Amino acid sequence: MTASKIVKHFRLPPMPSLSDLVKLYKLSAQRQLSQNFLLDKNINDKIVRCSGIKKNSFAFEIGPGPGGLTRSAIEAGAKEIVVVEKDLRFMPGLQLLADAVSPAINLKIFHGDALTFPMGQYVNRDYEKSWENDDLPDIFLLGNLPFNIATPLLFKLLLKVSYRTGIFSCGRVPMTFLFQHEFGERMICPPGFKERSRVGILSQAYCDVKLDFMIQNTAFVPQPKVNAAVVTLTPLQKPRLSPKFEVVSKVVKSIFQFKNKKWITGASTLFPKAYPEFLARFNELCKVDQNKLPIELEMSEIDEICCGYAQILDVFPELEKYDYRANNNL
Ligand code: SAM
Repeated sequence: MTASKIVKHFRLPPMPSLSDLVKLYKLSAQRQLSQNFLLDKNINDKIVRCSGIKKNSFAFEIGPGPGGLTRSAIEAGAKEIVVVEKDLRFMPGLQLLADAVSPAINLKIFHGDALTFPMGQYVNRDYEKSWENDDLPDIFLLGNLPFNIATPLLFKLLLKVSYRTGIFSCGRVPMTFLFQHEFGERMICPPGFKERSRVGILSQAYCDVKLDFMIQNTAFVPQPKVNAAVVTLTPLQKPRLSPKFEVVSKVVKSIFQFKNKKWITGASTLFPKAYPEFLARFNELCKVDQNKLPIELEMSEIDEICCGYAQILDVFPELEKYDYRANNNL
């Protein structure tokens, strides 16, 4: 029997209402864990549809909390689900859900921090597909992310995408996450707009990035100050920026530290002033128009800048450790 047929044969325990949550688990939404719950089934179903979760697939969820999104993933037919949640108080409710769907569906619950959790160790490799395959693996990563870990988590995931490690050793696993709306806009922003930023360039360097839809802040409990965006990132077979992630990240960070100045102002800080021959060599290697602002640079131009710097590192690898802020007068 397929997972979806089986789903029809059991009843999920009712989703706890907000007052249930408060009473049963003595819960109060914790600001430091960015707890804004999404209890609306229609919206959770819509997020799961955007994630692509289908029958007999594997899902990995970050921060399930009371389990609204987890239920939608179960109903969409996921056969195996791994969730990692930092707040112990959600464990009994999630365990109730796991018991209700077992053995048809294998819901594994982990108490842990998504920033350090070894996702790759808990993926079932039966669902993997090679990176060279045009089809994606039947593995889906999703979460109504705690906003306070969104940036570090995204960068960690992009690093792993670039090296095809962790969960991405199983192929081009797509990721569907909720971000603050403004953050989501920055992730998809093309060149030429003021919202163009490091997060957008790095996301677009390694993934196709799609803003699926927006969720009003009124849909969350408690209500956050800002709206949210559902964004899906699909890893690219060939990244748009070719040097290794650390080099790309350092170059883009340097350039965007002076967002309103010509890009070369920030790029110059990659090289110690006391050794002008580095910058001179960079200028020979990289012919990108130095009058452009960082936000105006096309991806191909950013690639040329990164490759110029990477070529210098090939000869002087110790330069990669140079930090202009720590050595301001060098
Ligand atoms: N998915 C639930 C929903 O939509 O109602 C909860 C979303 S809430 C925005 C974020 C969830 O992530 C909370 O349950 C919170 O406890 C959890 N969380 C916070 N920091 C975390 C971390 N570092 N690792 C894993 N979970 C975390």
